[in-house]
Amino acid sequence: MYELKITSQFSAAHQLREFQGGCEKLHGHNWKIEVYVTSENLGNDGLVTDFRLIKEATKGVLEGLDHRFLNELEPFENQNPSSENIARHIFESLSQKLNRTGVRVSKITAWESDSACASYMEP
Ligand SMILES: [Zn+2]
Repeated sequence: MYELKITSQFSAAHQLREFQGGCEKLHGHNWKIEVYVTSENLGNDGLVTDFRLIKEATKGVLEGLDHRFLNELEPFENQNPSSENIARHIFESLSQKLNRTGVRVSKITAWESDSACASYMEP
């Protein structure tokens, strides 16, 4: 199995509802996002896929989150914009853009600080 990883980032504000702790108050994070793409086979060019395609698709998804108040966005109307849910939202959006025969987005990791991250992966 081959695995590619790219990293990207976005900055946004959020507020976690029904959460007892510091994240209940409005605040921001600089999220660092890791995108993992896997494939069992390589194309004739020796690649899983072009890194540029992964980066461009990721940029498109993250532009929808960057410098926004996440609680006001449609994906988070009914669920907290936690790092867990952010990872799943990015996973689902990127899977629609990038998945094709044999090549799949396999995991998204969202780092909300240098020492804490949440991942969502293919069930
Ligand atoms: Zn937070």
